[in-house]
Amino acid sequence: MGYQPIILQAERDFSVSPGALWDLLANTDQLNREIGMPYVAYGPVVVSADAFYREAGARFLGLFAARWREYPFEWVRGERYAVLRVFEAGLLDVFHGGMELRSHTDGTLVRIFAEVTPRTVIGWGMARLMGRKGIRDTLAFCERSVATRNSGSDSPSSPPSRVSPVDRDRLDQLLAALRGSRLSERLVARFARHVVAAPDREVLRMQPFALADGWGADRTAVLRLFIQAERLGVLYHTWEILCPNCRVPHAEVATVGGLPSRVHCDLCAVEYDADLTQNVELRYSVHPSLRPASGETYCIGGPANFPHIWAQQYLLPGAERAVSVTLPAEPFRVRALRVNAVCPLDPDPAGPSEVAFTYRDDGWYQMRQRFVPGPVTARFRNETAHVIVAVIEQVQWNPLAITAAQVMTLPEFRELAQAEVRSAT
Ligand SMILES: [Zn+2]
Repeated sequence: MGYQPIILQAERDFSVSPGALWDLLANTDQLNREIGMPYVAYGPVVVSADAFYREAGARFLGLFAARWREYPFEWVRGERYAVLRVFEAGLLDVFHGGMELRSHTDGTLVRIFAEVTPRTVIGWGMARLMGRKGIRDTLAFCERSVATRNSGSDSPSSPPSRVSPVDRDRLDQLLAALRGSRLSERLVARFARHVVAAPDREVLRMQPFALADGWGADRTAVLRLFIQAERLGVLYHTWEILCPNCRVPHAEVATVGGLPSRVHCDLCAVEYDADLTQNVELRYSVHPSLRPASGETYCIGGPANFPHIWAQQYLLPGAERAVSVTLPAEPFRVRALRVNAVCPLDPDPAGPSEVAFTYRDDGWYQMRQRFVPGPVTARFRNETAHVIVAVIEQVQWNPLAITAAQVMTLPEFRELAQAEVRSAT
């Protein structure tokens, strides 16, 4: 006889907006690392008529190796998310967990939940122990981060729990050199704090414009600082080629000259071109000689990995689901992952607040839909005999990404190009 699921949950109030908590909790890669979950090895996407998942494996508590099928996260941006993991063998059978945010006049109520079905008596004990600990640690992470935020400090949101050490001598040399340039003292100091105290993942694959916005600094000044820091040998840049559908990077090269002309995305099952004006992005990482940051992956499926997707929904054959999501006045589209069938969803003040999307074997039945900006109910219906994963996504690309074409218009690009020539020799 099988075990009953163990249902665990906890709620807590925070005096911040749902958006602030969403930013913390939707970044499941950071969250899992912060609450002491193990890093995960992911396999390719597996798609059949009745399932759509990724193989995954990890070692829990350094002892229990587990392999599972990870189904796509389901979410509504700013409101809730959940993930289903079905274990192949061993202590656990099924895990379903996630969170919900409810806004009220004084702030936001967070509910963290987990439903774990064990397969053995040890699994039963472990599920209770780890489930409770996971929920407690998640809420504690929110509390620490909200406290940092409310104190007005611009230190990284999380305490330096998993931060690799910085070579102090090298950092001092860097700061002296940067201060000798035309950069502002305040900006150099902010950059130094980030390099020293941010978690490992946040000093790898950095987006200079996103950091500039977070620091309240000028974007070009931050990019100039990064180019200088690279010249001093403490940062290095890479070009990432993002899939035009899912916007996940699938190739990373050191020089523009090294860009492959075509790249394959396994999530979307497409081949695509590297387009310098659109999907080739500039990122910076801290050089291992300054700080040996490790870029292990803790979660690749959470909402923060796909910030342009406002809602994602898993639909079994014949399923009908309604999703309520608040959409701003900008173009969206509905897409079925993998098959990439698309239906445009355009803002229109005279449009409806309820919109239907019917999926058939030849794609979306609707040619184009309109919505009135604000709360919208999307009614999905899967009329095919196979699973689909439907998303509502922004059409506009991330304005924080620096594309190759943008960089080439800056005078500083010459220095970057020289760095590429140096690294290529
Ligand atoms: Zn893709």
